[in-house]
Formats: sequence, structure tokens, C-alpha cells
Amino acid sequence: MGIADILTGLKDKVLDAATYDLLKRNFELLEENYQQLTNKLEFQKQEIGKLKEENLSLWGKNGERHAELDISKAEQTFFIVDGLAFRKDITGKVEPEPYCPKCCETMSTVDHIIYICDSCPYTISIKRKLSELIAELSNQE
Ligand SMILES: [Zn+2]
Repeated sequence: MGIADILTGLKDKVLDAATYDLLKRNFELLEENYQQLTNKLEFQKQEIGKLKEENLSLWGKNGERHAELDISKAEQTFFIVDGLAFRKDITGKVEPEPYCPKCCETMSTVDHIIYICDSCPYTISIKRKLSELIAELSNQE
């Protein structure tokens, strides 16, 4: 029996003690329910606040990871021209140092014709100037 039913039954009647107690108990229960719902609402507002904060933080971390990935991709992408590997920096500019196309380590030269890998036995004699190779790679975009 709901509070509205009790009130309907009381219309035009004198309130006896038993009905008064029943009515009073009903109002107390309503008050308790209201208080519990208010507490629950407050708790959920706090949870939403925490989740929003956490979401924002995760978006930030996600952005950082994407930036790291872009740098990593730029570092790992080599372009091979005439037996030498080159790579581009994050701005897309070709770096002037040649790398070994076999192991991707740096290469050394004394005469700017013969290039020797600093790490593996790879050696190559280039027929064009290093600056021409870099210019060719830069123009390929
Ligand atoms: Zn090598």
C-alpha cells in the first residue's frame, strides 16, 4: 500500500492513532529513501568527476605515445639510393649522414667515394657525390 492510497482512504475521516503511526512510518521511509538517493547521487557525481579526470589523463598519455611513435617511425624509415641508406628527420628533411643498407648502422669514408659500414663488412664505392644522392632523395617527395 502506497502513501497515496493511505491518503485516499483518510479523506473525510478522523485520523486514528494506528493510521497516524502508519502514515508517520511511511513518511519516514520516504525520507530515508530520499536521503539514500541523495547520497548515491553525490557518490556518482564524484565518480563521474574522477572518470573525467582519468579520461583526460589517458587522452594526454595517448597523445604522448602517438608523438613517440611518429618519432620512432621517422627514425626507422630508411631510403636506399645507390647502395647507401638515408633517413629523414621528423620534419621530413633528409639527414646528411649515410647509413648501411644491410644493418642500418653509420658509415665512414675517407675519400667520399668508398663508404665502409662501422658495424658489418658492407662496403660500397659510390659513383655520384653524397650531396647529389641527398638532393635526389629530397626531390622525390
Ligand atoms: Zn652494416
